[in-house]
Amino acid sequence: MRPEAVTAMLPFLTEHYGNPSGSHAASRHARLALDEAREEVAAALGAQPGEVVFTAGGTEANNLAITGVHACRPGTVVCPAAEHHAVLHTCAALGGRVVPTLSDATIDLDALADALGPDTSVVSVMLANNEVGTVTRLAEVAAVVRQHAPNAILHTDAVQAFAWLDVAALAAPADLVSVSAHKFGGPKGVGALVVRTGTAIAPIIHGGGQERGRRSGTHNVAGIVAMEAAMRATIATRKDTVDRVASLRDRLADGLLAAVPGAVETGPRRSKVASNCHLRFPEVESEALLILLDREGVCASAGSACASGAIEPSHVLVAMGLSAAEANSSLRLSLGTASTNADVDLALQVVPKSVAQLAD
Ligand code: PLP
Repeated sequence: MRPEAVTAMLPFLTEHYGNPSGSHAASRHARLALDEAREEVAAALGAQPGEVVFTAGGTEANNLAITGVHACRPGTVVCPAAEHHAVLHTCAALGGRVVPTLSDATIDLDALADALGPDTSVVSVMLANNEVGTVTRLAEVAAVVRQHAPNAILHTDAVQAFAWLDVAALAAPADLVSVSAHKFGGPKGVGALVVRTGTAIAPIIHGGGQERGRRSGTHNVAGIVAMEAAMRATIATRKDTVDRVASLRDRLADGLLAAVPGAVETGPRRSKVASNCHLRFPEVESEALLILLDREGVCASAGSACASGAIEPSHVLVAMGLSAAEANSSLRLSLGTASTNADVDLALQVVPKSVAQLAD
């Protein structure tokens, strides 16, 4: 977590522990902090305070966006094949329609136009992809949606975007915007959904009627205040951070491409967020590579997930048109605001050595 976020949350775990929905003195400080956080979070997302619904993270924000709007406006939910499972599985649960993506993991706009119609209720398209980092031009998506399904609601999952991109500007064409604090230096388990005024949404969590009935449950004040602090710090330093992290990422990616024979980069680097380094090493099983890297202190992810004992190729890489073998030879090294030259040096030393060991 960003130190600013840790510092911001501590008083709300100690002397200001009151429940903001209470009506006694102990609650008032928490209520004030909650109101201030709502204003800051709204401004950071290009929204009005009343349009912010605090949630327990990105998964809940995505579920609320799609299920909550669909309940008010029954019809077909549409999303691209490379979405996070929080969107894909919610779309599937509502009998929705999945649209193909292009080879860079962004939505195929012609296929989107074909999938839209008068019965479309929600279209959900992510701003930045969580596996390969490619950024969707949301204004183009919105233009297609407004032309072919003028009554549909557009949601964007901006969870992977906020740390690196001006979400307030880029997500402006969307009616609903999801973010999650742990992706930009805040705590895990807290996020927000922007619901623009005039967008009808039904709650998916029922109870005490917090968040103007849109999301019941006692507020996670410490988490919300920390998310606000992380947002503020992110925005204040974003330009410099993006430049620094992109140059670290470039050194890492270029170094690995040069050092490992046959290595291939996944997706065009120019359309990725600064943090994403996604490579493929033919002939190398990523699961085995991850074990070797972990032993040497390199924390990485593969483009595959292990489900019920079987290695499933990543749905994102398959949606981009890669074969199962290509998908299962992937390595994702994500950089963060705290990444250093020394981290890159370590990866440049350990990854080629480990790949060579497995390729022998
Ligand atoms: N959407 C995207 C694009 C993500 O990358 C993630 C998390 O990795 C989520 C949604 C889920 O967010 P959370 O972990 O806050 O539930």
